[in-house]
Amino acid sequence: GNLTFTMIKPDAVKANNHAKILQHLIDAGFRIVALRMWCMSRNDAKRFYAVHKDKEFFEPLVDFMSSGPIVAAVLEKENAVAELRKIVGATDPEEAAEGTIRKLYGTARRYNAIHASDSDENARTEWSIHFTEADIICHIACSFSNFISVFVGCMFTSMFFASRLSVMKKAG
Ligand code: GDP
Repeated sequence: GNLTFTMIKPDAVKANNHAKILQHLIDAGFRIVALRMWCMSRNDAKRFYAVHKDKEFFEPLVDFMSSGPIVAAVLEKENAVAELRKIVGATDPEEAAEGTIRKLYGTARRYNAIHASDSDENARTEWSIHFTEADIICHIACSFSNFISVFVGCMFTSMFFASRLSVMKKAG
């Protein structure tokens, strides 16, 4: 699909790197479809990472993810899930490839600066914790209403010139 979900984690927001990370995403060809900076509660974080509930790192992960503001975003690009995983890099920043976001901004396996969904289905489940459908639909609605206003604008302009032309013709 063309959409995926990302979240700049509390470590990167505390380090004041969130704008740089968003710019990195934009420079890599992603468009921001929805954007929200907020604090997840422990319950939100538990829901978000429910797949890891039996892992030994689950509780500290939940504490960390609810320890401060995060920046959640829905991103658009062709083949979005795979493209984003590529520039985010491996879970452990030390193992992440040069130039990836985790290599640049992550400091530990837990404090790895950014989340990236690993499938279309998980992306949808994950963004629904952060956004309403209206938040995501709105950019489509905006582009549609912009299209309509430009279209109607062009129609009126050409009608105006057509009528001027016929007045001029009549007047000889
Ligand atoms: P991701 O898809 O690369 O984010 O990795 P996972 O879905 O496997 O793990 C989710 C998040 O849990 C990671 O991004 C890390 O923040 C954290 N995490 C995963 N594995 C470990 C681990 O072995 N130790 C610690 N401390 N944190 C981990």
